[in-house]
Amino acid sequence: MVDTEKNNELEQAQLDFISTVSHELRTPLTSIRGFADTLLTSYDRLSPEQRDKFLHIIKDQSNRLIHLVENLLTVSKMQSDKELIIYKSVNIVPFVDSAMQMVKNQYKTHKYITNYQKNLPNILVDTDKFQQIMINLIDNASKYSEEGSTVTITVGQNYNENSLFISVKDEGIGISEEDIKKIFNKFSRVDSPLTRKIQGNGLGLYITKTLVEKMNGKISASSKCKGSEFIVEFKAASIEDNAKQKIKE
Ligand code: ADP
Repeated sequence: MVDTEKNNELEQAQLDFISTVSHELRTPLTSIRGFADTLLTSYDRLSPEQRDKFLHIIKDQSNRLIHLVENLLTVSKMQSDKELIIYKSVNIVPFVDSAMQMVKNQYKTHKYITNYQKNLPNILVDTDKFQQIMINLIDNASKYSEEGSTVTITVGQNYNENSLFISVKDEGIGISEEDIKKIFNKFSRVDSPLTRKIQGNGLGLYITKTLVEKMNGKISASSKCKGSEFIVEFKAASIEDNAKQKIKE
């Protein structure tokens, strides 16, 4: 491709990105301003229940903005070459478990089942980034399924490929074959009456996939009739990796 053509494409991608971000920022901001205005101008005419409801909307929309800005900062960090990946050869189970506990605190009625195979090999990852991957997947599994449903997390070994896999499976709304091809793209959200009720910005899986691949792993998604399963795979750490880690410690 000619250089100018490449530059035009890049410029267009940046313009599209700015336009999508502006739209994503505008929706919650408009709602915050609207409800704050109503509270200021009509406070005495509103019932205590109405005031409470409006304040909760303002809080929810502010949280939505914070989440979006945090995701945007992660995307911008990931795209700069300066982002540091601090590899460590670790047993991954405690990190999966703590991510699960963190999400569990927010979804009180969901059930979480964990199957951790014994004597798993270490893998070489940045533990903070690994934890972010797990939180995103377990949070989605919880968010896109009904209250009281079960999320199953399995960590096991693929002996043939000398790799380790983490599966996050839910009983939720599922994803169609057509949509599954798009969900890892930036700002991609499935548009359906069910997903419209659930808050999100379509950046979580893009961030997740980018982080997995940056650390030389693979991610895939499948969904049959009901529920979805996301599988992340990483090669087992080599003997040299483990020895280097021991020296560092
Ligand atoms: P969002 O912030 O919208 O949740 P993600 O990038 O994490 O963004 O996910 C992209 C889209 O993929 C979601 O909007 C949703 O439509 C779909 N999705 C992700 N995880 C699941 C899941 N476990 N079950 C059903 N749909 C899912």
